[in-house]
Amino acid sequence: MQDQINNLPKWAKDKHKENKTFFTKLKKKPPKQLDYIMQELHEEEFERTDCLACANCCKTTGPLFTPKDIQRIAKFFRMKEQQFIETYLRLDEENDYVLQSVPCTFLGADNYCSIYDVRPKACSEFPHTDRKKFQQISNLTLKNVAICPAAYNIVEAMKKRIPK
Ligand code: SF4
Ligand code: SF4
Repeated sequence: MQDQINNLPKWAKDKHKENKTFFTKLKKKPPKQLDYIMQELHEEEFERTDCLACANCCKTTGPLFTPKDIQRIAKFFRMKEQQFIETYLRLDEENDYVLQSVPCTFLGADNYCSIYDVRPKACSEFPHTDRKKFQQISNLTLKNVAICPAAYNIVEAMKKRIPK
């Protein structure tokens, strides 16, 4: 797994043009059964992929924290929301709350998330490959294939499964 993670930025760069062309076409004319196809590809991939052997998303990029996430996680720590924000978060260029630093401070050395049951929505949904109308998050996916081996494999499988 670590070899794949190390090679991922280069592989993603090599495939970038091909992926961009594929997603441009997909956006213009998404197949009727795209939601179903994505669900199937996502499930197949995550039967093979062990996120606990990876955790590259938690190590290299942090989630956005919505007001609901902040409320829930602060309560879990029995902290006031403001205190939680000051301790762990900062505002990014788009005025969203993000982690002060990566790897994520809630990630353990064993790759377990110490706030798993209350983790941000963005974490529980990453890499978003089973979301409906997947063609709408093409730009995000083009970035995620350089971070997430599962997302990379899913996009490769999509290109084989969906006729050009
Ligand atoms: S909150 Fe948990 S799942 Fe989310 S980035 Fe941190 S360690 Fe990973
Ligand atoms: S979601 Fe992707 S990047 Fe995150 S741990 Fe699982 S395989 Fe790795």
